[in-house]
Amino acid sequence: MTFNPHLLRDAFPILATQANDQPLVYLDNAATTQKPTQVLNALLNYYQTSNANVHRGAHYLSDRATGQFEQARTQVARFINAPANSHVIWTKGATEAINMVAYGLEWQLKAGDEILITSLEHHANLVPWQQLAFRTGARLRILPLTSKGEWEPEYEHYFNKHTRILACTHISNALGVHTPLTHLLSCAKAVGALTLIDGSQAVAHETIDVAALDCDFYVFSGHKMYGPTGIGVLYGKAHALDILTPYQTGGEMVRHVSYNSTEFNDLPFRLEAGTPHIEGAIGLAAACEFLAQLDRSAVQTWEQQLAAWVYNELRFDTRIELYSPEQGSTMVSLGVPGIHLIDLNTYLDSQGIAVRAGSHCAHPLMAQLGVTGTLRASFACYNTLAEAQHFCSVLLDAIEILS
Ligand code: PLP
Repeated sequence: MTFNPHLLRDAFPILATQANDQPLVYLDNAATTQKPTQVLNALLNYYQTSNANVHRGAHYLSDRATGQFEQARTQVARFINAPANSHVIWTKGATEAINMVAYGLEWQLKAGDEILITSLEHHANLVPWQQLAFRTGARLRILPLTSKGEWEPEYEHYFNKHTRILACTHISNALGVHTPLTHLLSCAKAVGALTLIDGSQAVAHETIDVAALDCDFYVFSGHKMYGPTGIGVLYGKAHALDILTPYQTGGEMVRHVSYNSTEFNDLPFRLEAGTPHIEGAIGLAAACEFLAQLDRSAVQTWEQQLAAWVYNELRFDTRIELYSPEQGSTMVSLGVPGIHLIDLNTYLDSQGIAVRAGSHCAHPLMAQLGVTGTLRASFACYNTLAEAQHFCSVLLDAIEILS
């Protein structure tokens, strides 16, 4: 273990919190990460020096705000290796980005078409497609990935001439497993389907290169990668964004309006109706800067080592079921048959440990696993080995007490 998370902790003032009279151990990073001072300062600085509406006023502050807002788009485009700024659409988060695509493509779908998702999806990458299928008569098909996320040759049969869209997660939020993206994307391309990747659980942990992935859409939320809440990204290739009907209409997204017609603006503005989350975009750019200054692969290895450490510590305990993969995951999802997850969660919380217990917005996946939920400890760059050890020891205490 070479990476030193202690060097980063001072940048996250909230980590010094006493939670229930105990030092906070924050292991709910897959739900949302904490924010470094770099991001907090960017938000404060924007309001103290530059607050104005963007793209509208011809005055000093408005120019300044617009400059910072568009600079943020440039930074985010660079962060994911998008070819140009116009490929980055600001959204509220991954959920809004997926809805934007699902609504925007409605006019392209008809009865008999197929939308393919995997069995590892968060509801955010399931319900919008299910509802789109209901509205259009298209068929929602589920690729039955196992909790190991391995590619099986029979999956190829799920791709056929009717497949119009493949929407799949990059990493499962409930288990931490990677989906077999290379295979999925190449099969989707072979049948001419559009591809959307939900990168919500990947952006904080690995370098995202949308050009190398060669997907049509890639979506993520800022708050899961050390950025603010309420801001996210829809990346799209030009042809893919071009065919989206705007999901919302109003100011900013228009070039000219009369009572009889509206001429829409160019991308990216055509898909961004109303005053945007200006400081959110600026804060997200600061989060990209924060991540870019780290050795990303060392951080990812560290996070995976922490999860593997927990996995190995618990694996031979016959009272515990482990649902995450042994390697390559930055989280550990587990159950203790006979003990209610909420009781475990409450005990951990009483000791200052924040984890997530529940279905992780993945009801069908929980049904596939035969459980109603799991207890998930998810790691970020600032987590230490001592925290992972403390989590295991408190969890084992909880099991003793509650058995
Ligand atoms: N997709 C995945 C894999 C997630 O983990 C989440 C959030 O947990 C989402 C989508 C939805 O993200 P948001 O609620 O920020 O829109």
